Order: sequence, then structure tokens, then C-alpha cells
Amino acid sequence: MAEITQEDLTFDREHIWHPYTSMENPLPVYPVASADGVRLKLNSGQELIDGMSSWWCAVHGYNHPVLNQAVEEQIKNMSHVMFGGITHKPAIELAKLLVAISPEGLDKVFFADSGSVSVEVAMKMAMQYWFTKGQQKKNKFLTIRSGYHGDTFNAMSVCDPVTGMHEIFTGVLPINHFVTAPQCGFYDDWDEKDILSMKEAITLYQHELAAIILEPIVQGAGGMRFYHPQYLKEVRQLCDEHNILLIVDEIATGFGRSGKLFACEHAGISPDIMCVGKAITGGYMSFAATLANQKVSAGISQGVPGCFMHGPTFMGNPLACSVGVASINLLLQSDWKRKVDSIEEILNEELKAAEKLAQVADVRILGAIGVIEMKEAVNMAQIQKQFVEAGIWVRPFGKLVYIMPPFVISEKDLRTLCQAMIEVVKKQ
Ligand SMILES: *Cc1c(COP(=O)(O)O)cnc(C)c1O
Repeated sequence: MAEITQEDLTFDREHIWHPYTSMENPLPVYPVASADGVRLKLNSGQELIDGMSSWWCAVHGYNHPVLNQAVEEQIKNMSHVMFGGITHKPAIELAKLLVAISPEGLDKVFFADSGSVSVEVAMKMAMQYWFTKGQQKKNKFLTIRSGYHGDTFNAMSVCDPVTGMHEIFTGVLPINHFVTAPQCGFYDDWDEKDILSMKEAITLYQHELAAIILEPIVQGAGGMRFYHPQYLKEVRQLCDEHNILLIVDEIATGFGRSGKLFACEHAGISPDIMCVGKAITGGYMSFAATLANQKVSAGISQGVPGCFMHGPTFMGNPLACSVGVASINLLLQSDWKRKVDSIEEILNEELKAAEKLAQVADVRILGAIGVIEMKEAVNMAQIQKQFVEAGIWVRPFGKLVYIMPPFVISEKDLRTLCQAMIEVVKKQ
């Protein structure tokens, strides 16, 4: 495709909405001409080391020959075919992989088009489960503060009401219940008081709760926090004791990011319903899946209407499924665990130094995720420009300056990325 011109950029500014931006006064966007490995190539010819994996997705980096080949081959075969009344090999292969690698018991797969949709599907499954059991009152959800589950309406209703980006919609969202976010960090000693507010809320609301929904261990866009595995263990136990389903949103954490293939594994638990997305296609296409256990699928299927009432037009898209199969196989065949552990080690060596800076409130690292929490919210236009000038792509929000680089990043690039990041943080 031809080069992006100044005229194109003016058109973009006047006509194209970017994520979370104003149409009247948008922040600048940087024209990317191509991407390869861990580098984004700007129109100007400048290359940036990618710290974001395009929001958790591109774990194998960009323009990967194996993933390219999977898409090319599938295009020649068929790009899409409806999933109603039809099935195909890419969907079957992807479902086989997901069932094999996901926590125990999750063996029913529903394909969705994006993370938010998979969350809608998960919540709908939980509601329909109780509906078919004649317990229509169990249609609310309980979650923890500082969470983020997507931008559609039910997903918004369980995002943190303040930091979850959807505060202005509070009055029109379905009403769900929130408890304080876990305070025990991942590396802290477990304090049993941490679960008390969850216990209280469960006692108070159990008769109207369809499910508890949360991000396991790593809270992403709602605060970039890492909490104690024992918390998740106890939530699982409380759900069992009080007849509540557990939905775990692994959209950001799934496929190795936290140092386990799924973050649930840190706590050794299995949810009733699990959402996966983002890295599922290695960042090639929008795609996600909602996995359910036998209890949920049977509950829904054995009642009236007997079917799960959902079916997106692009359900099970063969292109997305093929690249998903290729991406997961690539991950499993790589030494991903050692790679993520070594990224964690380097992040610890490089980023921990920022703790001493006057501008910095906290530095935390887990798996291939590094977070510098500032004392004040950053000036986005200014800091973005400084990152680009420093040759790295980092996209902060609010007080959070964070990276989750592609797993294929070299040690040298990772150290450069971290050092440049700290230099920019010092200027704030
Ligand atoms: C990104 C994200 C979503 C939403 O996924 P989309 O594909 O953007 O709709 C939901 N939950 C979590 C934890 C996420 O990180």
C-alpha cells in the first residue's frame, strides 16, 4: 500500500475515531508503515522497539512467517463460512487445543469475535444457567474493584466504576456488586483479612448472584495490579460453598503472559467459565473464546429453551481459527516459560531502579509485565512524543507506565526498552 501522506493524516484526524479519543481535539497518532519482529516502523523510517505487544496480543512479534503462512493457506482454502449448521477443521483444531491446555474441566468452547463479546457471552451463560434452573433471581454479578472486562454494556457493568473507564455510564448500566480489590500483592505474605469483604458481600447477596467475575491474579486496564493467589483460591471455594458460578477473565493473562499458561494456574483453580482473547491469534485478528465446564453447559442445555441463545455472524471465523492454532502451537513448541521467566528477571534488574525516583509511586513486575506507577497522571501528548523520540513504543494511561513486550524480544532490545522507559519517566 502507498505511503501515508500528510493529507491522509489530516483526513484521519478529521474522520477517524481512535480508541478513547476526542473527535474535536484528538491526541496525535503516529503513522506505522509496517511491523516486523519487535519493531514498529514509522512512516518516517524510524523504528520503535515495541513494549506493548499491541495491547497484550502480539506475543510472537509481528510479521511472523509461521503465522503469515497459516493465514495465507487458509485464505486460499476459505476465509469465512457461517458456523450455523456448518463446521470446519480450523475451528475443531483450535477447540481441541483450547480444551487440552486450559484448566481442568473447561471442555466446551464458544467462539466469539472479541474479548468484550466473550465476556458478554460468559455473563449470559451464567444468567441462562440459573434461568433454566428456575432461579431467575440469580442474575447479578459480584466483582472486585480495579477490574476491567471490556467496553460493551454488561462488560462495562463489572469494570471498576471509577478506574474502569466507564464512570459516566454508571446510571444506565446493569447494577452489579463490587468489593474492595485484593490488597495482598502477589509477593506479599497472605493476610486472611483480605478475603473478608468478599465473604461479607457473598453472604449478603448470594441469593441474587449468578456469578463472581474477575481477572485472575493480574488486573489489567483497571489498575495493573497483581494480587495474591490465595485470594483466587478462596474465591473458588466460596463460590462452591454458596452455589455461585466463577467466571475468570483470562483475556489479558492467557497464553503465558503472567509466567503460567493461564493465570488461574498460580492458584491451582479451575473456573466454571473462562474468557480468552487477545494473544489467542498472536495479534493477527480480533478473536476470543468463552470456555465452560460440563456443569454450566449441561445446566443451560438441559433446560428450556435448551440452546444457548447466542451466535455471532463471524463465529468461528476460519482465518482467525487457523492463525489461532498456529499461534498456540508456536507458543507450546517454543520454550515460552523460560523466555517469560527471563523477561521477568530482566524487568526486575532494569525497572526496579525506578523505585527511587521522586516521580514514581511503585514498580511491580510479574511474568512478562512491567509496571511503573507514577505519583501523578502523565501528560499523554508529551510523554508519547518522548517515548517515540527515545525509539520505543510505550502507551501509558493515567498514572501507569507499563510494558508487556512480545515474548520473542532479545535481551538487548529489552534492556534498551527498559532503560529508555526510565529515562523518559525521569523527565516527567
Ligand atoms: C482487553 C480486555 C477485554 C476486552 O477485550 P476486547 O477484545 O478489547 O473487546 C476484556 N477483559 C480483559 C481482562 C481485557 O484485558
